[in-house]
Amino acid sequence: MVLEIEHRVQRKLEALCRVVQERYGMIMWPEMAWDLRGQAAGQANARRNLIRFNRELAERYPDEFVAQTVPHELAHLVAFKKFGGNIRPHGREWRAVMIALGAEPRRTHRYEVTPVRKLRLYAYQCHCPDSEYQLTAIRHNRIQRGHMYVCKRCLQPLEPKTAAY
Ligand SMILES: [Zn+2]
Ligand SMILES: [Zn+2]
Repeated sequence: MVLEIEHRVQRKLEALCRVVQERYGMIMWPEMAWDLRGQAAGQANARRNLIRFNRELAERYPDEFVAQTVPHELAHLVAFKKFGGNIRPHGREWRAVMIALGAEPRRTHRYEVTPVRKLRLYAYQCHCPDSEYQLTAIRHNRIQRGHMYVCKRCLQPLEPKTAAY
């Protein structure tokens, strides 16, 4: 069975390969494998023209994966093909390719920095009976800075859960 996230990654990779062709005049057609495990989201093998992806992290963080990991790994292959093997992995050549691909040239994937099991969630509630929302630290921090998330049913803003749980 091919999962939805694999389709998304495939489509993103195809779109990025078209950008590479326009910008650099290079035809890239990397092989994909979904056999990576552990903390690394992706791994590029330039000599084999292969990108390995981590399915578990892709399912957990699909948006970040498509927006960041896919260009990150493709940029390694492009930088290798264009500049050769004597460049630093995340040096200025790689960063230039990332920018050309419309991606933020960050060195690490955000989820590589935070171990999955340590990801902290914050309990919130609205006015619906027994409501409980598990918000990520990103959303929690936005609320702390004054951003508001509203329940679609009761239309009340989410508040930190006060009752014992
Ligand atoms: Zn890298
Ligand atoms: Zn509600």
